[in-house]
Amino acid sequence: EKFRYWETNKVKTTCSYCGVGCQMDLLVKDNKVVEVQPSDKGLANNGLLCVKGKFGYRFIDHKDRLKTPLIKKEGKFVEATWDEAYDLIASKIKVAKEEFGPDSIAGFSSARCTNEENYLFQKLFRGVISTNNVDHCARLCHASTVAGLATTLGSGAMTNSNFEVLNSEVIFVTGSNTTETHPVIGSHIKQALKRGAKLIVAEPRRIDLAVHSDIFLQITPGTNVALFNGLMNVIIDENLQDKEYIEKNTENYDELVSVMKDYTPERVAEICGIDAEDIRKAARMYASVDKASIFYSMGVTQHSTGTQGVMSISNLALLCGNIGKESAGVNPLRGQNNVQGACDMGALPGDLPGYQKVANPDVINKFQKAWGVELSNKVGLTVTEVMTKGSEGDLKVLYVMGENPMLSDPDINHVKEALEKIDFVVVQDIFLTETAELADVVLPAASFAEKEGTFTNTERRIQRVRKAIDCIGNSKPDWEILMTLMNKLGYDKVYSNASEIMDEIASVTPSYGGISFDRIDQEGLQWPCPDKDHPGTKFLHKDGKFSRGKGLFKPADYIKSAESADKDYPYILTTGRMLYHYHTATMTKRVEGINRLFPHSYMEIHPTTANRLGLEDGSKAKVSSRRGEIITTVTITDKVEEDVVFMPFHFADGAVNYLTNSVVDPTAKIPEFKVSAVKIERIKD
Ligand code: SF4
Repeated sequence: EKFRYWETNKVKTTCSYCGVGCQMDLLVKDNKVVEVQPSDKGLANNGLLCVKGKFGYRFIDHKDRLKTPLIKKEGKFVEATWDEAYDLIASKIKVAKEEFGPDSIAGFSSARCTNEENYLFQKLFRGVISTNNVDHCARLCHASTVAGLATTLGSGAMTNSNFEVLNSEVIFVTGSNTTETHPVIGSHIKQALKRGAKLIVAEPRRIDLAVHSDIFLQITPGTNVALFNGLMNVIIDENLQDKEYIEKNTENYDELVSVMKDYTPERVAEICGIDAEDIRKAARMYASVDKASIFYSMGVTQHSTGTQGVMSISNLALLCGNIGKESAGVNPLRGQNNVQGACDMGALPGDLPGYQKVANPDVINKFQKAWGVELSNKVGLTVTEVMTKGSEGDLKVLYVMGENPMLSDPDINHVKEALEKIDFVVVQDIFLTETAELADVVLPAASFAEKEGTFTNTERRIQRVRKAIDCIGNSKPDWEILMTLMNKLGYDKVYSNASEIMDEIASVTPSYGGISFDRIDQEGLQWPCPDKDHPGTKFLHKDGKFSRGKGLFKPADYIKSAESADKDYPYILTTGRMLYHYHTATMTKRVEGINRLFPHSYMEIHPTTANRLGLEDGSKAKVSSRRGEIITTVTITDKVEEDVVFMPFHFADGAVNYLTNSVVDPTAKIPEFKVSAVKIERIKD
């Protein structure tokens, strides 16, 4: 852009990409964002931004932005007015509700949207449509964290703050490619190493942080629980546990000791494909210091045993008294800008805002009174269950706000079948996504740069999102769309701005009780923040005070992944993300400089395997699983081991989720994205 700095206005806001929640200034000239700079202040990022935050803003006014509502007629989208679209949606919802009951309707809320919008989305479904069928993509990333940590610690969130890692003495990173997926936290980790911290990395790929680590455990995908148990076996066996902490602050220690007995380093080394001595060294290193922090992400959660993986991490931290103090803790890195907030706001089928359970009659009473409506106490459907019910023809209306299951969900052929069978699908988004193409009505939403609100980042910090430019075309902020629909469906509450919605959130959500736009104007606040005088909470579970009482040891045995390599499908495929693209790339593929670097999918494969299959770097390969097949480009690298291949999930061209397994963790209902058996064939020229 050609501009002079003095011609621009600076609008401070929160990055709309990942969960780090970097504070940034949008530089605006003539109603256009022309540059992004890190904001001077910003406790989440300390003046840093990554490539996506700094350069990934061109999607905002991209020509592909949806500018008007679309209604599908005879298989083709036709432009419509807002009123036509609202009336059609309202009438379809009313008819489905009357003929098939409210549970024939489901909605996916959005980790991309603000807290206020997520709050209104679940209120629309619960309070106006009368169903708890509301979920969102946390089901696919950290549902096992929410379930696991709520069980063991009482709260399913990062225990500590982003910058505390700078003073950790040992950092254990597992199932997280931090420098690519949470780049600013990745650089904080590197700064900590410069200050003398030690780093342990356990990952199936030799990621960037592995290169900087003191101990790298290159584990076979799906063996996390065995590894964590092996570490605890050594700690107990060598008497390195924090006995005083255990005695004072935890329960169920005896069961932990009994289950861990079987996980000798030799047995675990065999399961994980690593060296027994490295397990001992890592255990000693983790247990040897006062402040050891664990960072994990979807390499731990996206398994059919994801909840056990999360609880095992929590066991390890409790065993060494590494919870409830600064620069230690258990830190699940939340992926999307507001996935923490979407969970906090109750975009979950069993939880009202603040994780207040729909199954609890007192909670239902409280919200009935606050909202003046009747509520259902029946736990709703998860994302994965919606797809199953949809494919069986039992769902009549699906409302998708800012999600793209046609790329993000496992077993895309199954997702497509479900979306095609559901009678009426609404998609509300900023671009015509792969999912929107299958919708009956598409509503154009405003981007983060066009609206007011808040996001809650991975460290539980609630931060402001500010309007920098007018809405593009005829698009509208999601909260306005949801409010109008509520009104059309007979609930006549009117909010004049997002701040009023936050006031209502604070009045019904104990952990947000002290939050208001005034208070977070300069700097965000971390929940729990129960009242107007509370300063927010930097780290959780201080002095052994867990919201569930004591910290609970919940040991689990290692169970194999649902699929293993066999003679038909001899390789293990694992999936993940990369630095330059974001999620289903709806935004980043529209940023030219970024997209030019990585325009299509690729598969990392070990040189020996590639050689065996006759594959060359840059050649095409067909990859198939029991669920589908795709064609992708080969990248030869020894980052992966011989029988493991890796693919990022961002791309529609060669989308890896045609291959992934939709089998779920029975507790959290999160799919096993990280382990699928595949076969690979060379495509002859
Ligand atoms: Fe945005 Fe995350 Fe990058 Fe920060 S680290 S600039 S929040 S994408």
